[in-house]
Amino acid sequence: MSMSFSGQVALVTGAGAGIGRATALAFAAEGLQVVLADLDEGAGEGTLQLIQQAGGEAIFVRCDVTREAEVKALMDATLAAYGRLDYAFNNAGIEIEQGRLAEGSEAQFDAIMGVNVKGVWLCMKHQIALLLAQGGGAIVNTASVAGLGAAPKMSIYSASKHAVIGLTKSAAIEYAKKKIRVNAVCPAVIDTPMYRRACEADPKTAEFVAGIHPVGRIGTVEEVASAVLYLCCDGASFTTGQALAVDGGVTAM
Ligand code: NAD
Repeated sequence: MSMSFSGQVALVTGAGAGIGRATALAFAAEGLQVVLADLDEGAGEGTLQLIQQAGGEAIFVRCDVTREAEVKALMDATLAAYGRLDYAFNNAGIEIEQGRLAEGSEAQFDAIMGVNVKGVWLCMKHQIALLLAQGGGAIVNTASVAGLGAAPKMSIYSASKHAVIGLTKSAAIEYAKKKIRVNAVCPAVIDTPMYRRACEADPKTAEFVAGIHPVGRIGTVEEVASAVLYLCCDGASFTTGQALAVDGGVTAM
């Protein structure tokens, strides 16, 4: 299947690390112009350098996805640099282990919901305005297997990822006739800085976590990036409103 992305423009949030960085690199390797957005300027500049060293084209825009003015400015910077937007990967997210439900704090709830839900909603709101004006495009949001089922000791995170799937499905049917496709990826455990922080906090995590995946290992960032590029490409032209598990078989159990 040919992806034939050449000359198009993709935007990636949370592009400074992990899944976002790998997906930005994959878009650039396919010949897209890539807009990298991240809260962490050093991390975002790091991804920019990697793309440029590989001969790709990108810009970095510092953006906190929880702030509407910054999200709007991100879209303005995209138009100023490349004149259009074809694909958006709304991937910035945070995870805070909160203990069991009754042990979580209001501050944790507000922080997780702010980035994972409000951030995705704000990004979609402003991206859809551009895509409508342009006649179509595709959006992929990062949910999680924790958005498809329970995640013990991470109930707020799990609720936030269920909400990402709700936003994805609602937008998909609202804009289907406008040629805007909206899907989500639902990774299981992926080897990223987020995962490594969890392993540092509890050394038993790595062994336990590998064991819960039927394939016997955790996933790679490139495996999630492949799924995102598939959902964006023309080969997925009849696929919208889906929450695609990229999970080594976890949700099949
Ligand atoms: P990561 O922590 O390695 O990278 C996340 C990036 O998002 C960082 O560069 C960070 O600076 C940026 N970010 C955080 N808050 C932001 C904000 N307010 N505005 C803009 N950027 C912000 O994380 P990752 O593991 O690559 O996770 C990426 C996404 O995948 C998240 O939505 C996460 O919930 C989801 N996810 C991860 C896993 C996993 O096992 N790693 C599994 C399922 C889902």
